Amino acid sequence: MKNRYVAAILAFFLGGLGIHKFYLGKNVQGIIYLVFCWTYIPAIIAFVEGIMYLTMGDAKFNAEYGNGNTISEDPIVEDVEFETTTSHKPGKNRFLPENSTEKTKKCPNCGAENSIENNFCESCGTKL
Ligand SMILES: [Zn+2]
Repeated sequence: MKNRYVAAILAFFLGGLGIHKFYLGKNVQGIIYLVFCWTYIPAIIAFVEGIMYLTMGDAKFNAEYGNGNTISEDPIVEDVEFETTTSHKPGKNRFLPENSTEKTKKCPNCGAENSIENNFCESCGTKL
């Protein structure tokens, strides 16, 4: 894992030569900095980048320059979990009132509502 403080220090002092880019594994960009170092433009860009490295925070820095494999996979897994849990919850809640109303069954003889646990009608004694 790359250290953003090391990258920032390299950008401040050796950024004009693209050393911080080589450190971060951006070799192509480093070569471009090296080729244009005589213009001093890479040094100015590197100074701004050094400030960015210090202010962007570890999470963002690691996502861009660190071992991004583990960091880029984690948010995707979290998103999937959030979608499934939020979509399942309303369905479960809808079942609860239906189950509570099905606790009675109607007598075929007199029409009285009886508890679902009753085998015989409470008002007329007919087998349910
Ligand atoms: Zn009955």
